[in-house]
Amino acid sequence: MSLKIYINGELFDKEEAKISVYDHGLLYGDGVFEGLRIYNGKVFRLEQHLDRLWNSAKAIWLQIPIDKPTMTRAVNDLIATNQLQDGYIRLIITRGSGTLGIDPNSCSDPQVIIIADKIALYPAEHYERGLEIVTASTIRNHPAALNPRIKSLNYLNNVLAKIEGLQAGCMEAMMLNHKGEVSECTGDNIFLVIAGELLTPPTDAGILEGITRQVVMELAQAAGIVVREVALTRHDVYVADECFLTGSAAEVIPVVKVDSRCIGDGTPGPVTRDLNSRFREETYR
Ligand code: PMP
Repeated sequence: MSLKIYINGELFDKEEAKISVYDHGLLYGDGVFEGLRIYNGKVFRLEQHLDRLWNSAKAIWLQIPIDKPTMTRAVNDLIATNQLQDGYIRLIITRGSGTLGIDPNSCSDPQVIIIADKIALYPAEHYERGLEIVTASTIRNHPAALNPRIKSLNYLNNVLAKIEGLQAGCMEAMMLNHKGEVSECTGDNIFLVIAGELLTPPTDAGILEGITRQVVMELAQAAGIVVREVALTRHDVYVADECFLTGSAAEVIPVVKVDSRCIGDGTPGPVTRDLNSRFREETYR
């Protein structure tokens, strides 16, 4: 059975799921998206992802042509159709097809696309041994240029930093903001453990407010760990006891080396391992 893709209320075989080359999502990255996980046949934190999608769309003056209950039904129906127990969902809203100019007023038909597929997990050894990352020279988008809180289809900022990471032999790269502070990684939020406290850059450091980040902060608080959203420097990262990344795809993944410096003793630390198992429990509740 071929995987089905949802486009504007209709299901298509994967090979037949197509949109116009005049779509401004393709021509200009004009659109928004979400990446979600399915655990045990259920979508993890669907409501929060839909809220963020609708907020991203609002911020770019894009009207999503369906409402949240319709989107929820479409997502759940597609999971059932594609018979997924564990998997990944991509929600995409494009501006729709228009003329070759950037004026979004030429686009009249925003496209609603839902992909529900199996997930290609990172190799297990990265979770056991931890990741090595480097700082990219490409800084995160200035919030006054394109706010990182908007999960837009314009991901070139992240793609460039990702390439820098890959060229250094790393799967992720840390991005600084316009003030030189730590912001996040190309597709993940970043956390440090220093003196038993859990630290992560605040929203105004220019980050995507990760859903996984929020879940991990809540789990840490419930476990009695002090959680602080504070501006962090690269020096803070180098001298941290522990470091880990969070994201819908990555979940909770330890970082053991940053810019050739070992973090802590160079192995995943106890707080990271504890939060990782609490997160795993939460996803399968
Ligand atoms: N930052 C960026 C830039 C991202 O693209 C993502 C999502 N892949 C995240 C952080 C993590 O967000 P979430 O936990 O909501 O997946």
